[in-house]
Amino acid sequence: MLGRDHALSGAFAFAALGPTLHVTGSHLAAGVLLTAGAGVLPDIDHPDSTIARSFGFLTESFAWFVARISGGHRHGTHSLAGIAVFSIGALAAGAYQLSGTRVGGPGGGLVGGHAAFSWHMVPAGLFLALLYSAALRALQIGGHHGDLLGIAAALVTCFTGADLTRLPVGSWHVPLLATVTALGCAAHIAGDELTHGGCPIF
Ligand SMILES: [Zn+2]
Repeated sequence: MLGRDHALSGAFAFAALGPTLHVTGSHLAAGVLLTAGAGVLPDIDHPDSTIARSFGFLTESFAWFVARISGGHRHGTHSLAGIAVFSIGALAAGAYQLSGTRVGGPGGGLVGGHAAFSWHMVPAGLFLALLYSAALRALQIGGHHGDLLGIAAALVTCFTGADLTRLPVGSWHVPLLATVTALGCAAHIAGDELTHGGCPIF
């Protein structure tokens, strides 16, 4: 499957689940776009993939590294263990962001109506920027400005704490960022399994 198809299947998965996750408005829009980005995330194990080209040399080097440690393309990142690693990473970034929140903020960096920067936002912010930019790139939205739009969207999401919004998933309440990550990766692996077969799911 092409990056565009993976991104679309991720976006569709979040939109379809939107009502059960009780998300509306801006959170729904952010969730759809972020799940589209997470839909191409497992291909970070290939230096020529859409997501690996998001931030040029930086992400291409990272993809080369991931390919080495995960056992090559369509291997470790295309398994339940891969979904778990990405999701735990998203949870950890969110927990770190939350630990830097000042009392009184709504979960992000908004203090008294003013956006306040905290180093605790950096991991989640980078992850958000990667997902947004990958989504815009895969869906061919924004052209050359796609990456800038992605970074801008990541800043807004991070400063408002929207990525920390807890969504009801079964009997759990999972932060938005971890939810979209797990959902997008699952949609990706399902797509690869249908079209290529042979993902080492377990
Ligand atoms: Zn793949």
